[in-house]
Amino acid sequence: METTRDVIIIGSGPAGLTAGVYTARANLKPLLIEGLLAGGQLMMTTEVENFPGFSHGVMGPALMAEMRAQAERFGTETVQADVTAVDLSRRPFSATADGTVYTANALIVATGASAKLLGLPAERALMGRGVSTCATCDGFFYRGKPIAVVGGGDSALEEAIFLTKFASKVTLVHRRQSLRGSKIMQDKALANPKIEMAWNSVVADIKGAGTGGVSAIVLRDIETGQTRDVPVDGVFVAIGHTPNTTLFAGALALDENGYVVTHDGTNTSVPGVFACGDVQDHTYRQAITAAGSGCMAALDAEHFLDHQ
Ligand code: NAP
Repeated sequence: METTRDVIIIGSGPAGLTAGVYTARANLKPLLIEGLLAGGQLMMTTEVENFPGFSHGVMGPALMAEMRAQAERFGTETVQADVTAVDLSRRPFSATADGTVYTANALIVATGASAKLLGLPAERALMGRGVSTCATCDGFFYRGKPIAVVGGGDSALEEAIFLTKFASKVTLVHRRQSLRGSKIMQDKALANPKIEMAWNSVVADIKGAGTGGVSAIVLRDIETGQTRDVPVDGVFVAIGHTPNTTLFAGALALDENGYVVTHDGTNTSVPGVFACGDVQDHTYRQAITAAGSGCMAALDAEHFLDHQ
């Protein structure tokens, strides 16, 4: 495989694969280093009902397989390995994966973000089958059912309020007695009759139903140590996200939360390096917005290379 390219894309979620489709069609012969856990966050979801073009919904992994096939159809080559080092201090830039050094004059960073998880074995086992990290994606499945949201920040409050549109009741589980989220969101959540607070509580376990879904959470009161079961059909973990930017610390400008800073489209602090998707977006975080910014990064990279 040719290790010197016009463009290297790091990451294989909707942003990276869309960048692959566009750069391949621009004849830039992109190399997409997809990571060992290819496909991004959609690989952990079941049905995606809000991606335009799929009127009957599509399974997350199936959507990613389609995007990958589309990127490959136009000539995107993929390497299934994690990038372990990058050198962005000079052009061509380099990215090392599986011991091979790949170089390119333009680099697209699409490494995404990871939802923080509680770390319970049941949480992993039931992910996408009752446990979710995205209310916008999965809330619709809980019409008329009781659910729980974990967290006390703006994400948890926003998700809890949003989920009251569907759920019969939302138990908001927070490990302290006061919320972290903004005052206005707190007021809204606390005034919502469908939201019940479980203060000073942590989720000690998630119980699965025989059919594979969630049947209850086990809450532990951190002051008394007592546990109780709360029957729910779904659990939304909203305790924050971590952008996957460890590789770029010191090489690209990152904001105080570690997200890549972009300006004028998808430009980063290093000319020729572009960033798209959740690695630079902590606001929208949707597959469709990630795909849109992947397209922007490809066009920005093409424009940059044209002017070299
Ligand atoms: P966050 O502000 O970091 O809040 C995370 C919450 O999860 C905190 O309440 C934290 O508890 C809790 N938590 C963390 N780890 C936990 C664990 N292992 N077990 C149980 N609870 C845990 O994250 P975020 O809510 O995602 O917000 C991130 C940023 O985006 C914030 O700046 C926020 O304002 C912004 N945001 C804004 C909006 C909006 O304006 N509409 C919406 C979403 C997010 P503690 O409080 O005890 O630390």
